Parts: sequence; C-alpha cells; structure tokens
Amino acid sequence: MAELCIRNARRLDGGVVDVAIEAGLIVEIGADLQRTADKEFDAETGLILPGFVNAHLHVDKALTVGENTRWEVGTFQESIDLTLDNRASYTHDDLVRRGSTVIEESVRFGCTTMRAFADVGTVGGLAGTKALLELREAYRDLIDIQVCAFPQEGIIRDLGAEELLIEAMELGCDVLGGFPWFEYTPVHEQRHIDKIMHIAKHFDVDVHMFVDDDPVAPQSRGLEMLAVATIDNGWQGRVTVSHACALASYDDHLAGRVCRLVADAGISVVSNPQISLVSKCQNAPEPRPRGITRVKELMANGVNVAVAQDDIADPYYPFGRGDLLEVASIIAHVAQLYRPEDTPTVLSMVTTNAAKAVGLDAWGVEHGAPADLQVYPPDAGTTATELLRLQSPRRWVFKAGVLVASTSITSDVHRVAPITP
Ligand SMILES: [Zn+2]
Repeated sequence: MAELCIRNARRLDGGVVDVAIEAGLIVEIGADLQRTADKEFDAETGLILPGFVNAHLHVDKALTVGENTRWEVGTFQESIDLTLDNRASYTHDDLVRRGSTVIEESVRFGCTTMRAFADVGTVGGLAGTKALLELREAYRDLIDIQVCAFPQEGIIRDLGAEELLIEAMELGCDVLGGFPWFEYTPVHEQRHIDKIMHIAKHFDVDVHMFVDDDPVAPQSRGLEMLAVATIDNGWQGRVTVSHACALASYDDHLAGRVCRLVADAGISVVSNPQISLVSKCQNAPEPRPRGITRVKELMANGVNVAVAQDDIADPYYPFGRGDLLEVASIIAHVAQLYRPEDTPTVLSMVTTNAAKAVGLDAWGVEHGAPADLQVYPPDAGTTATELLRLQSPRRWVFKAGVLVASTSITSDVHRVAPITP
C-alpha cells in the first residue's frame, strides 16, 4: 500500500496518470494504478509538475521597499547603495519576519527548494546569515532552503568580508557565493574568483557567483575567467552563475567561444529577467537592451540555463511574489521562447534545469524522484503554453509526499442582461 496516491494527473506530455508515493519518493507512475493508498487525491486531469526550484532569491533583502522608497537617479548603483543603507539597520527579528513571509508565499506558489542568499560583509556582518540558517531549520517541513553566503560588496573592496565568509561557512552555510563583477578592476576580479574557489575547495561546497552584471559591457569577462578557474580547480558541475548579462554585448564570435567554454566547465547559468528589465540599462540609449544573457545561445551550446526570482520588493525590484510561473512567463517573453516546442523548456527552467543548477539530480514527475509536486486545477490548461498563459493558482503543493499548501479561487461572471441563444 502506498502512503499517498495522486490520481488522474495530467503530465506535460499529455498522459493522464496516477502517481504513487512512499517515504517521500515517487514509487510508481501509470494509468489506473491498482494499488491502494492511505491518502488519495483526485487531480481531475489537472496538470502535475515537479516542485519549482528558485535558484536565486535574496531572502534577507526581501520586503525592504515601499511607498517611501526614493529612487532618484535610476541606476543599478543606486539600488546597491539603497540596499547597503537598509542593511545597516537589519535586526534578527525583522530578518526572520520578512523571510518567513516570502518563504511561505513561495511555498504557496509551488516552490519546494530555494537557494537563499545572505549578504555577508562588514556592513551587517553575519546578521542575514544567522537569520537564514534559522529559517532553513524552521521551515524544513515545507521547503529545502540552501543558504548561500554572499559577499555583496566584494572581498577585495570590502576588507574583512573574506574572514566573515569563512565564518559564515563555519556556521553551516550550504553554498559559497561570489561577486567578482563588483571588484575594482579585472585583476581584482580574477583575485576574487581565485580566493572564492580556494575557500570552496576547503569547505567542499558548491559555488554560486554573480558575474558580468552589466549588460552593455563587452569588456566584462568574468564568466570566461570563472569558467577557466572552474576547469583548473576541477570544480566542473559545482559552479552556477547568475546574470552573465555582458555576454549579450559580445560580438557573436566571442559569445560563441564563451558559451562553449561555459558548457565545457559544466557551469549552470541563472538568468533573472525581472530585475534585468527593471533595474539594468535604465539610462541606455534607445533601442534599449533587455539586460538578459544570451539564453538561447547558451542552451544551444548545451549549457544548463535556469531562471529565478532574485528579488522580492527590494531596491533592485519592487515587485515579485515568489511565483516561478510568473518568472517563467517573463523569460518566455524576454527570450522570445513562445513556440509550442519552446514552452516546455521554459517550464524546465524553473523545475528540472533549476534543480540541476542547485545540485539536485533527480527532479521530475518520474519514478524515483522526490515527491515534491504541484498539481493545478483542471481549468489551468492542458499544455505548457496554456499554463504560462493562464497563470493559475496551485491547487496542491506536496513536499516529500506531504501536502504543504492548497489554494482555490472561485470566479463568476454575472450577466446583467443574459443573452438567450
Ligand atoms: Zn541577485
């Protein structure tokens, strides 16, 4: 007897199946499974997807802006400066309260794994790290949280941040972050990458760096430097980058060479289209760049590409709600992935590709995978394109085979003067 069975669920390939779950894993999938279960859910042919994975979210910065926030010059640097001002006054209670809100909201939207970034630096110290480590434990029943210690002001520019990063890793962070793009010069950028790789090897952890954050900067070569360092250090498959925006401003020959190098290095690339659209290129001349990396070219070269939320109501991006289906819709628009053969790939960028980017192997509605699942109502559509178009709430969210969230919305149209046929 299975512990739980989700019946009549529609997979993206169109097949309607029953999914049996035991000990947190999918143990059988098939049409009309004969086995009985302790608990049964009838999906009524609604779509079933693996849980969303948010590969990049600044939980410590979330919910720090509102109607009183003053953006005056409209540059990326302004967002960085406003964040630094906020960070000086973070308190533990405030971090835990804001973090709890965005974590619970993410779970409601089907997110079952999150890579949460905690700023580490001489302003704010380890306050974000300690709060996120506490939240990781507090929410273990709902979501897996990987805490990434992230040097938001660099480690060369922010003297003392390197020691704090090591301390953060000793406290139990899961992933080591890096931000070479923020350093003063390409020489310092290289030094930053070398130092981070050294610390990562010491703690035997995966690395997640933000590189080439400026979309109009053909001279910015952090991704290339990091790919070489990844190969030199034997860290293939253990490095993920976010942004890599400058790749879009390289000429096609150089971009092709870098895409192939990134594939060889086994680096996953996470694009964050919402923040790119809102806070990058604000003062660029028209026609204005979209600010994202070369998504299609990276994928064509075999690079694992994911998309992530990045920011929720912080100085970089005042919107966002932890809904990866919304993020997927935005990358479909910005990267022009709209054909029926593209949209399943778009969904994989917030499910299987994102899982791979955070180091998870088995992810999907498949035998042996974790029973981290989301089920949509029957009117949410039957294809990836319809799911992206209709943006339905998640009817049920399961974490390791346990129901952790459910949402239902009713909507009626009231005709004043009904037309009779
Ligand atoms: Zn970010």
